[in-house]
Amino acid sequence: LYVDHPLGEGQSVPLERDQAHYLFGVMRLGVGSAVSVFNGQDGEWRAEVSQAGKRGGELMCIAQTKPLQIPPDLWLLFAPIKKARTDFIVEKATEMGAARIIPVQTDFTNYERIRQDRLQAHAVEAAEQCGGTYVPEVTDLQKLGRLLDDWPSDRNLMFCDEAEVGSAKTLGQATGDKWAILIGPEGGFSPAERDRLKAHSQTYVVALGPRILRADTAAVAAMTIWQQALGD
Ligand code: SAM
Repeated sequence: LYVDHPLGEGQSVPLERDQAHYLFGVMRLGVGSAVSVFNGQDGEWRAEVSQAGKRGGELMCIAQTKPLQIPPDLWLLFAPIKKARTDFIVEKATEMGAARIIPVQTDFTNYERIRQDRLQAHAVEAAEQCGGTYVPEVTDLQKLGRLLDDWPSDRNLMFCDEAEVGSAKTLGQATGDKWAILIGPEGGFSPAERDRLKAHSQTYVVALGPRILRADTAAVAAMTIWQQALGD
């Protein structure tokens, strides 16, 4: 269970209404039941239900069961697509261990706004589901051009583009362990974006096989390829 509260030995953790509903109504737990909790910062803890009510409750932290597992410093930049597919990308990127998820607005992105709070909640659920102790930050929509203007000098960029010939083998030639993966929208990247991205000295162009993948498939494939080449 994800809680937005510090965790530590003997620490009591208040439960909100929806958490109480889930634990006591859906899971049928009661006072004394064991619950696994994490908050994205203090690792995973075994806790016990100390108060159970319809509108709330309380847990008591007993012992840490996992330390915080910080993922590799990998950002996923993607252009938002249809709602359900964007949700899918956030979920899968969380499961695959992205440290930060950045929805980007590109020349051919069809969406001007995203529900950052919804996407962040999806990341929390995905971390809960896969037993992770870390929740990636999902940022608000950012303009790709602006991101490139301020691109950190120590971060490599794996630019996924079906129009290019590029092998994942080149990733191993990069120095430094900070990375970002960039996936485009349904319409791909504009010629101007392609030129700019390719001119960037930290860019590694990678093709994800001979077929054009949908953006959500491409995000998962790209993260898998990156993990295989550089992840731990
Ligand atoms: N521009 C394409 C078109 O309309 O034919 C489709 C873009 S594709 C649906 C969405 C994004 O997924 C691309 O911008 C790229 O980042 C990534 N992608 C899909 N297939 C890929 C491949 N074979 N190699 C590299 N990237 C790929």
